[in-house]
Amino acid sequence: MASQEDRYARHRVIPEIGDLGQKKIKAASVLIVGCGALGSVQAQLLARAGIGRLRIVDPDLPELVNLQRQLLFDEADLGQGQAKADIAAHRLSRVNSEVKIEAQVARVDASNIEALMTDVDLVMDATDNFETRYVINDACVKHQKPWIYGGVIATTGMSMPVIPGSGPCLRCVFPDPPPPGASPTGLTAGILSSAPVAIAAIQCASALRLLVGDIPPQVALLTLELWQGSAREVQVSRDQACPCCGQARFEFL
Ligand SMILES: [Zn+2]
Repeated sequence: MASQEDRYARHRVIPEIGDLGQKKIKAASVLIVGCGALGSVQAQLLARAGIGRLRIVDPDLPELVNLQRQLLFDEADLGQGQAKADIAAHRLSRVNSEVKIEAQVARVDASNIEALMTDVDLVMDATDNFETRYVINDACVKHQKPWIYGGVIATTGMSMPVIPGSGPCLRCVFPDPPPPGASPTGLTAGILSSAPVAIAAIQCASALRLLVGDIPPQVALLTLELWQGSAREVQVSRDQACPCCGQARFEFL
């Protein structure tokens, strides 16, 4: 059997990562908010990449309707009374026993986000609603932690890294969350099974890039249309009047 040293050989040989980058990945800790379709892929990719510590937070138990796209769960998990976060931790410990995995069965909101993210280096958005994304955004801007936005609906997905102090935050791009019920949900519009896999893969690449210290000089909002097989990139900049990260906020502090 190959030694553990060989586990990350395919990453270490990539110049953008290298031995030093792999050490930085091992020293890093990440919070994954949600363990559905996006979170399943993020957790697997980051565990396989050798992240030092992963904290996975999700309130739900797996259901039959999840299996179409949530790759960490299978039929044997249904009706067992075990939460997704706990199942994920068990699976991932077999994927990579070097990774410290912390599962928490909870719904992330404004009351617990700061406690969950203060001791991690980066936050992954694996939620299915805008309300929680704004909670993540505001806490990450406050604590100057990067987070990676990702969202999927029907055959389309979007992703953008948020790097407080450098790039735009979510409110610079979308100042306010859509009113409740105004935007389609997975329940009403569906989710193509491959869409969250693609978006989570982009999010994980962005996360590893930031964790090895390669900060992009310009941030883009990426939209993937999976059915057409097309991608669109829009360069986005920080809004100096942003109520969350703009100058106005600091003037009034
Ligand atoms: Zn902003």
